[in-house]
Amino acid sequence: MAELEAFSDSYAEARRKFVEAARRAGAKLASYKHPSERGPGGEALYLDVSVLGPGDAAQVFVVGSGTHGIEGYSGSAAQRAWLRGRPRLPKNTAVAFFHAQNPWGFAHKTRTTEENVDLNRNFIDFARPLPANPGYLELHPLIATQRWDDEAIEEIFRRLDAYRERVGEKAFSDAFNGGQYSHPDGIFYGGARPQWANSALRAAVETHLGRAQRVAFLDLHTGIGPWCEHVYLCFHPEGSPARARARAWWGERAVNLQGVTHAKLATYNGTIIDAFAGMLPGAEVTSVVIEYGTLPRREMQRASLAQRWMRFEGPRDPVLAAKVRREYEAAFYPADPEWRRAVLEQSREIIDRGVAGISSS
Ligand SMILES: [Zn+2]
Repeated sequence: MAELEAFSDSYAEARRKFVEAARRAGAKLASYKHPSERGPGGEALYLDVSVLGPGDAAQVFVVGSGTHGIEGYSGSAAQRAWLRGRPRLPKNTAVAFFHAQNPWGFAHKTRTTEENVDLNRNFIDFARPLPANPGYLELHPLIATQRWDDEAIEEIFRRLDAYRERVGEKAFSDAFNGGQYSHPDGIFYGGARPQWANSALRAAVETHLGRAQRVAFLDLHTGIGPWCEHVYLCFHPEGSPARARARAWWGERAVNLQGVTHAKLATYNGTIIDAFAGMLPGAEVTSVVIEYGTLPRREMQRASLAQRWMRFEGPRDPVLAAKVRREYEAAFYPADPEWRRAVLEQSREIIDRGVAGISSS
């Protein structure tokens, strides 16, 4: 059971454990402090970066946690467990961990930032017109419920199903999950400006990865995929060298969407892994998202609705909000020891294979 101590119940605990593990492993640490926001216990919020290995390494393997706040509890545990495993690095290779990429969401146990922004839709060019999501304009009035009870939720799903049947799975996924820039009180809201977490990540990438020739970025998430299993989401185009590298390092499943529980993946705007490659134009970048599966798709959709309800309607009914919150947290951060052990085991192998891969290519 000792290995499950890698998991934490609060952001403050996760950060303390991460920093301690990084120091013990001999990694260098850098911290980016949020200038104004705090956690629920008044604690300061940081993006923390650990770098193990030479600062001028040609190859840097990066693992990020907490792009979606609450999903970072598992990513943080994976990072800590790996650091505690006395890792030995190949020559000229460093491993950098970005801990709590959205620390506000991590600390407050929600997917979004302090402005209800999905950080993984926020990396767009705000100097240009905001991306349109006409499907979401239709969905928003259906899902923006003030009531939270079984009857109201069933009614929402009846309407969502009717919409899905009318437009098809792909258009539904684009509308629901793809990201929207029109409703600050909606779901998968991409924001009206870069979030602090966006700027902090850019600063960290520039400082720690600017000199690397080859960079890989593994972004750890939860919520898509079968229980106790992981899935890879690779967005490098078919036929690209980056996609071939991902396949060579992790096998066919790194690129074939095996296990993905969405009927169709949306076309996403402003993702962190797309931005990552853009920040390092001189480097060869390989990036994939790892999702640890939790609950079935419909329950995860319900969790997305729950998050909106908690934030915008919950304060009027704190008793119900507390119950909804427990369900929400279980959907993104299961307490089941078997699930948590699976995250640690699978992460260790994925990171080890990636580090071996980048140092041999
Ligand atoms: Zn996520």
